[in-house]
Amino acid sequence: MLPLTGKVALVYSDEYLKYFLGKSHPLRPQRLKLTVELMREIGLLDHPDLVLVEPRMASLDELKLVHSDAYLQRVKEMDKLGRGYLDYGDTPAFRGMFEASSLIVGGSIKAAELIVSGRVLHSFNIGGGLHHAARDRAAGFCIFNDVAITARYLQKKHGFKRIMIIDIDCHHADGTQEVFYSDPSVLTVSFHEDGRFLYPGSGFIEEVGAGEGRGYSVNVPLPPYTFTEAYLYAYKEIVPPLVESYKPEIIIQQCGVDTHFRDPLTTEAV
Ligand SMILES: [Zn+2]
Repeated sequence: MLPLTGKVALVYSDEYLKYFLGKSHPLRPQRLKLTVELMREIGLLDHPDLVLVEPRMASLDELKLVHSDAYLQRVKEMDKLGRGYLDYGDTPAFRGMFEASSLIVGGSIKAAELIVSGRVLHSFNIGGGLHHAARDRAAGFCIFNDVAITARYLQKKHGFKRIMIIDIDCHHADGTQEVFYSDPSVLTVSFHEDGRFLYPGSGFIEEVGAGEGRGYSVNVPLPPYTFTEAYLYAYKEIVPPLVESYKPEIIIQQCGVDTHFRDPLTTEAV
């Protein structure tokens, strides 16, 4: 079995399947269950350095670390209604979405807690990465931004001063970037398909942060059909020097896998 550099936690529960946006919606929670089942089948879950951990529910106070009271109230109301959209047509409302989203946020917080407590060196919340959600709005299938909330949680609860967020999802991490745009204590880096070709249409190199946060938002828009070699070249040229100069205390990586060449919504073709 492959040696790991340290203990790894995988945060997962079948309850994640409740983040279900509808039968014909492209975001399919079933993928999480299938991935964990595949991991089990090939013996990964038996690795002595891997621990499987259940997520917990995020509290209202934790959600408020990023989201406004008015927005949280709106999600609650739309949850009761159970129909319509939270945005302009990408993110349908559904019954139970407040809890389903809170569990994903709690899963990311728990993943971070496991690292802070020293129980593991790496952790992976397989349901996380809802990076389009912003302070007062849902967007692009994302209701609560677990990535941003986890960073704020680490600052508030554990006094972290330098957090780095690396987002390799094929879509620009617009929600996460917006939360920390003026904040030098969180360095956001997003690799994504060029906004001229793909949702959400942002993430250009000129978006570098504002005020005290100027220089702490990094965007790497890549053209359609970048393919693997050029993608890795860009990553290796940009990420290691940033890590060396910023010296983050912790790195949160949003591991969206939709850069894959068979993804039906994107064309980065990695
Ligand atoms: Zn994406």
